[in-house]
Amino acid sequence: MLKPAGHTDKFIVEFDAAIEAHMDWTRRILRCAVLHTAPGDDVMSPVAHTLCQFGHWFRLNVERFEELDPESVPQVERLHQFMHDAMRSICADVMKGEAGRVFDLERFERSQSELLTLLARLKTLCISNAVRHDPLTGLPLRHGIERDYALCMKDARRNHTRVYVALIDVDHFKRINDEHGHPAGDLVLQQLAHTLKSVLRDNEPLYRFGGEEFLWLMRCDSAADAEKSASRLVSTIRETPMDALSFPMTVTLGMAQAGEFEELSSAIKRADVALYQGKLDGRDRYVIAP
Ligand code: GH3
Ligand code: MG
Ligand code: MG
Repeated sequence: MLKPAGHTDKFIVEFDAAIEAHMDWTRRILRCAVLHTAPGDDVMSPVAHTLCQFGHWFRLNVERFEELDPESVPQVERLHQFMHDAMRSICADVMKGEAGRVFDLERFERSQSELLTLLARLKTLCISNAVRHDPLTGLPLRHGIERDYALCMKDARRNHTRVYVALIDVDHFKRINDEHGHPAGDLVLQQLAHTLKSVLRDNEPLYRFGGEEFLWLMRCDSAADAEKSASRLVSTIRETPMDALSFPMTVTLGMAQAGEFEELSSAIKRADVALYQGKLDGRDRYVIAP
């Protein structure tokens, strides 16, 4: 699912608050130990790690973390639980009037330190991921495009399939802005990105390439297959009513089949020439570069 604008800012604020809540939890336990008062359920319960504020927030956002780095999710859960288990054991000893065990203390310190390091890395990952994405549509910007193109080409060579570089440009978008206002234009771009994503296959990357222009790395088996996909995309956009508009919106596609060892920049140039031809031919269509 594409992330709307402002999503990351809010997530980072919540992320910081969740970590701060855990530091508060540690401070609260220190007070209990010094003042000999009983800690609450989020310390003594066998499932304390699911009751504390951090654990609750992490589970609510687990999908987001899985998208960022799937391997980190079980690591965070394991370290967080270790921390709670060690602290429960320490508090149980202290409440019995006994000294806590070195083993528990070291287990607590180690898991807390590893957890904080891991969370700091995830936060950095989240921020660097955000700057690689367009805040308006949630689509990736150009950063990863060369790498994705190389991967698509490698797959295509191995499986004897094809890659087309397709530029998708909204027709008369300036008119949409002029007649409905820039905010409506923004809404149209958001809805368009969403519709495009729903038409494309999961393994076909889509980028916001420029203002009202998108780049699609199309994977297909044959020229006929490419034409079918392009035609379906053009007609889907024409037939999808845009919430912010009272008239149909159309797009023009310029496409170029990438040569076996062709540079991305060269395929883009050819797609751009095809796009220009599509505009001259009357828009609302696809044109494949010779
Ligand atoms: P054509 O059919 O030939 O492509 O015409 P066009 O009007 O779509 O093309 P043109 O390049 O003349 O205008 C593109 C417009 O897109 C101009 C620019 O203000 C607008 N635009 C670019 N980025 C954004 C954006 O993020 N939001 C909005 N609302 N408008 C944008
Ligand atoms: Mg345009
Ligand atoms: Mg344009």
